[in-house]
Amino acid sequence: MTPRDRSREIWRRALEVLVGGVNSPVRAFRAVGGEPIIVERASGGRIWDADGNEYLDYISSWGAMILGHAHPAVTSALREQAERGSSYGVTNELEVQLAEQIRGALPSMERVRFVSSGSEAAMSALRAARGFTGRELVVKFQGGYHGHADSFLSEAGSGLATFGIAASAGVPESFAALTLNAPYNNPAAVKEIFAKRGKEIAAIFVEPVAANMGVVPPEPGFLQMLRDVTAEHGSLLVFDEVITGFRIAWGGAQNAVGIPPDLTVLGKIIGGGMPVAAYGGRADVMKMVAPEGPVYQAGTLSGNPLAMRAGLSTLAELRRPGFYEELDARAKRLAEGLTAAAKDAGVPVAINRAGSLLTVFFTEGRVRDYASAKHSNTERFATFFRRMFERGILLPPSQFEALFLSAAHTDADIARTIATARESFSGLTAN
Ligand SMILES: *Cc1c(COP(=O)(O)O)cnc(C)c1O
Repeated sequence: MTPRDRSREIWRRALEVLVGGVNSPVRAFRAVGGEPIIVERASGGRIWDADGNEYLDYISSWGAMILGHAHPAVTSALREQAERGSSYGVTNELEVQLAEQIRGALPSMERVRFVSSGSEAAMSALRAARGFTGRELVVKFQGGYHGHADSFLSEAGSGLATFGIAASAGVPESFAALTLNAPYNNPAAVKEIFAKRGKEIAAIFVEPVAANMGVVPPEPGFLQMLRDVTAEHGSLLVFDEVITGFRIAWGGAQNAVGIPPDLTVLGKIIGGGMPVAAYGGRADVMKMVAPEGPVYQAGTLSGNPLAMRAGLSTLAELRRPGFYEELDARAKRLAEGLTAAAKDAGVPVAINRAGSLLTVFFTEGRVRDYASAKHSNTERFATFFRRMFERGILLPPSQFEALFLSAAHTDADIARTIATARESFSGLTAN
C-alpha cells in the first residue's frame, strides 16, 4: 500500500468545501476512524484510491453495483445513449421498457413511476398511501431506513444508526408524531399498534429483509402477519425493496417470500449505478398520483434516458439463468469462511446473511432486531474494519450496514477475503 498522500490532500480540500467533506454522511468513515477513501476509479469488484492503491470493494455503491463496477454491457449502453442525448424532459420508449421489465418481474407493481432517488420514491409512496386511504399515520420499524424524508427519520437505520441520531433535528414535532415505530420481527408489537390506532394508519413501511441495521432477515410468518394486519385494517403494506429489489431474487424479496405488497419502492440496482428509483403497485392506489389523481409528484430528470439504459442493461444481465444461484453460493461460502475464521480466533460474532447481503455483527447473541443489533461491539468492528482496509479490503464503514457481494467478486476474491479476515480477527478480543 503506498502512502495516501494525495487522498489526504483531497480530503483536506473536501473538508473546506463539502459539508463534513462528503455528500452522504457514512462516507466520512467517522464510525471507523481514520481518513476516508477517496476514489479515483473502479472496475469489476475493485476500486482504486487517488494514490493508486487497489481495494476489493464490498460497498458496491451500497448494493447498486450488483454486476460490479464499469460492467462492459452497462458502459457501452451508456456511451451509446449519451450520443442520443442525456435528458429530454419528455417521454421516451426506454421508460416504458424499463417499467415493463419491472412489472414483468414484480407483478404487484401494476403501475410504476420513476424518480431519481430512493428517498424520493419512499416519500412519494407514502404520500400516495396517505392520499388513497385518507389517513395520516405510518408504521415503520426501528432500525429500518426509507431514505431521508421527514416521516422516516425517527429510530431509523443506516447513517442515523451509525451516528446514534435517534431523531433528526429539523423535523417538526407534529410530523414526527405521525410516525409510529415498532421492533422488527415483533408481531405482538405491531398488533398492539393496530389494535389502538388501526383506523388511522395509512401504511406499514418495511424492508422485507432489513439491511440498514446490518442484515436482519424476517422471521417466518412476520411478513405474512404484516400482510394480514394491513388488509384487515384497510391500511397499505409497502415493501421498501430499495436494497432487496433484484438482489434477493429476480424481482425482489416479495417473490422469494410469495407475499405481494400493495406498493413497492425500488432504487439502487434498477439504476445500474445511475440515480434512479421507482415506486409503484396496485393500479387503484397509483391512480391517485398526478396526472391521474390529486396526489402531486413530479421530477425534471425522472425517467432520465441514460439512467433507463443503465437499468435496462443491468436487468438484462440479471435475467441470465443461474445468476442469483451463483451469487448466493459465493455469498454462502464467504459467510461460512468468516464464521469459521471468527470461531478459530475466539471472536464472538453473529453472521446474518440473506442471499448476497451479509453482516458480521460483533456480538454474542442472535441479531433479530435493532435492539440486538445495537448490542454489537462497535469498537471491535472499527478495529476489524481498519485491519481489513489496511490489507486492501474495503468493507462498508459501519457495523450497521450490509456487505454487498457483486457478481464481479471471484472465488479467489472470496478466498482472499476469508484469509484476510482470519488475520484481522486474530487477537481482536484483546481490544
Ligand atoms: C438506500 C435506501 C433508501 C434511500 O435511497 P437513496 O437513493 O439513498 O435516497 C431507501 N430505502 C432503503 C431500504 C435503502 O436502502
